[in-house]
Amino acid sequence: MAQPLPKEDMVITSQLRSRPVPPLDPKQGQILLEGAIAQIHKASQEFLQAVVDAAKMVGGEDDRCIAGISLKTSGPKQEQDLRTVALSDPRSSFTGTELPLLECPSSLLPEGQEVILLHRPQSSFVHFLPDDRPIEELLMVPFGSGSDRGGVLWLAAYGEHRFHQGQADLLVLLAKQGGLIHKSAREREYLAELVQRTDRSTLLDQLPIGIAKLDQEYRYTYLNDQAIASLHIRPEELLGRSVWEVYPTVAGTFVEDAYRSAMEDRVVNSIELYFEPVETWFDVEAHPAEDGGIVVFFYNADQRKRSESELSSLLESAERQRRYYTTILTTTPDFAYIWGADYTFLYANKALLDLYGLTEEEYVGHSFRDVGYPEWHARMHEQEMDEVIRTGKPLRGKIPFQAKGGSGIYDYIFMPVFGPDGKVEAIAGTTRDVTALERSAETLKEADKRKDEFLAVLAHELRNPLAPLRSGVDLLREDTSPEVLQQAQDIMSRQIAHMVHLVDDLLDLSRVNRGAIELRKAPISLRDVLDLALETVRPLIQDRKHHLHLELGGSSLTVNGDITRLAQVFSNLLNNAAKYTEPGGDITVRVLQQDGTATITISDSGIGIDQQDLAKVFEMFAQVDRKSDRAKGGLGIGLNIVQRLVKMHGGTITAASEGIGKGSDFTITLPLEEQEVSSPQTAPKAKTAIQPLRILIVDDNVDAAFVLSMLLKRLGHEVHATHGGEQAIEVMEGFKPEVVFLDIGMPGMDGYEVCRRMRRLPDTEGCRIVALTGWGQEEDKARTKEAGFDEHLVKPTDKGTILRLLAEFSAQRG
Ligand code: ADP
Repeated sequence: MAQPLPKEDMVITSQLRSRPVPPLDPKQGQILLEGAIAQIHKASQEFLQAVVDAAKMVGGEDDRCIAGISLKTSGPKQEQDLRTVALSDPRSSFTGTELPLLECPSSLLPEGQEVILLHRPQSSFVHFLPDDRPIEELLMVPFGSGSDRGGVLWLAAYGEHRFHQGQADLLVLLAKQGGLIHKSAREREYLAELVQRTDRSTLLDQLPIGIAKLDQEYRYTYLNDQAIASLHIRPEELLGRSVWEVYPTVAGTFVEDAYRSAMEDRVVNSIELYFEPVETWFDVEAHPAEDGGIVVFFYNADQRKRSESELSSLLESAERQRRYYTTILTTTPDFAYIWGADYTFLYANKALLDLYGLTEEEYVGHSFRDVGYPEWHARMHEQEMDEVIRTGKPLRGKIPFQAKGGSGIYDYIFMPVFGPDGKVEAIAGTTRDVTALERSAETLKEADKRKDEFLAVLAHELRNPLAPLRSGVDLLREDTSPEVLQQAQDIMSRQIAHMVHLVDDLLDLSRVNRGAIELRKAPISLRDVLDLALETVRPLIQDRKHHLHLELGGSSLTVNGDITRLAQVFSNLLNNAAKYTEPGGDITVRVLQQDGTATITISDSGIGIDQQDLAKVFEMFAQVDRKSDRAKGGLGIGLNIVQRLVKMHGGTITAASEGIGKGSDFTITLPLEEQEVSSPQTAPKAKTAIQPLRILIVDDNVDAAFVLSMLLKRLGHEVHATHGGEQAIEVMEGFKPEVVFLDIGMPGMDGYEVCRRMRRLPDTEGCRIVALTGWGQEEDKARTKEAGFDEHLVKPTDKGTILRLLAEFSAQRG
């Protein structure tokens, strides 16, 4: 037995640092610790065992070391004892022994020191270890922490063993970490105990999930608070009663299936359920329970269901909107499309697909070039798209375009479609075919141009006769010799006739345009019509020394028509023939009968019409070669009116010519009337002797009143002229006129009013009041009649008409 060492000499901790440290796997400590920590779920004792096993490994693999944990406890005499709680040699019965702390080497570990190394501790501490083998060195580190009373983790070496600093460090680490884990393990044990003791249901009640337990008879045996709240029912109404009893409606449903299958097949079943009694949606899970029953979990699914139904109504309305938009987009004749920023089509409507004769698959996802745009066109649109993307602004353009399904002028607009980041992510466009619009704009422009030209021509044409009229008047001022007088009269009446013709044409044009021409149709002889027409044109024909050939073989033919209007038609054609044929030419009128139709051709040997102008001659304001010397004066409306009048009679008119200088043929067809004309229509012949009459003239145009009064006075009538309505009424009583020529448009009191007042005067029943007006429409005539007029004459009234009327009055007077 060796000499016991004084305790101070026993402590050789300082030697640790001077001893060599053999190479050590740096991860070793970590591995050891992890091994220990892995035991955390095990009981505290097993954990402590793991720590000492690890500590022993720090000492070495062989048997020369033993490790242990000794914890301080309070001894019977209020002093501290040391109880060995774990040893690396499990066979040892030493575990559990308690010794007074002071009799143990641990008492040498000063408070606050990390490590102590003792040399041969047995010399002083006899009861130290169960083993008799002499301990050469004892390495000790404090174990446990904080409130723990603490203890030591020790490592003892038998025989020639020398601990070094590396081992000391590892042991410190192990003791520190192990101590912490030991402490928390003890706390967990405490908690577990607490849970054991506490009513488990309090915990379950905290959960936001409804939990119900059913026994094998489907009777409720447990309900947490949430279940009770969810089901809106008192626990006593449920506990001990079966599901089928409490909720009979559940029987036979998929809910019963789910519960039964969980109960019988021991599987988990999930269902979704609208629970009528509480008007709530639940996600329900039925789990098999250990005791043979089932546990049912309820999750409130109202929120989810609401989102689902919101989503589905959102989808529904999106779908509805899609249907609306699709309907619009597929029915519109405009093209609608969307492009991605990479110039490919994302959408194309039906009109656009039809234009290219492509299907949606052939179009969508493809570029301009893929679907057949010419290179220039594709490039142009790509540049425009770049611009829209760059500026974020819409762009508009117009382009003539040709594609498989059509061609024309297209007006397009590209709109930027912005993404959530504010960048242009696509371009939506619409394109409209504006060809018709453009053409009608062209037509309107053309018509407008023609109208302007027409007005210029009109001014010119009206001016033409004015010059000879003025010089005629001037001539008469200078010289009133009979020859000059005769000549001037001839010139002036010819020019006036021309002007009247022009103005008549204009009036007719306006009437035809307004559809205001009324035909007074009656069965008439075609011969009479042609006679009337020839009568008007003959002077011109004679003037120009034309040879007139009449081939009126079938002219006893009868047509149903307005004699005045039909005569106007033929005189117009004859007039043109005379006008457009050089003096001395031939004019032929030929009448033929063919299957209920009369065909009348008026041919001339004149200047002819170019083939390309033939169709144009009937157009309004059409004058072939207005600027050339072929032009003979005229407004270019005569043939247009002729054509419309013929149409109104159910007939046709065509123009033919073999070309310039080859003469022209105008051919009219008219349907024939079966019935013969009983008596030829002739204008009433004026009586040769006219009784002198008392005539009042009322016209604010002093010149017009004067000329007419002169004319009438020369014929032997007693004439009084006044220039206003009031004055005329005053004159009535004293003068007692038998005939009044009354102008309508006068300042102050107009002709209608004057007439009405005159009619209210005594002794005017026998007085004939004749309206003199520029207005000759049927409605104008109706108006004068209503005001009390007997006759309606349209200005300028020719002498013959006035004379005929006066003869009639005179005859009626007897
Ligand atoms: P205008 O007042 O100019 O004669 P019309 O409507 O009667 O108007 O005729 C239209 C045009 O048709 C004339 O300007 C003329 O160029 C052509 N035209 C009409 N009749 C004849 C014809 N018999 N021979 C040659 N050209 C004619």
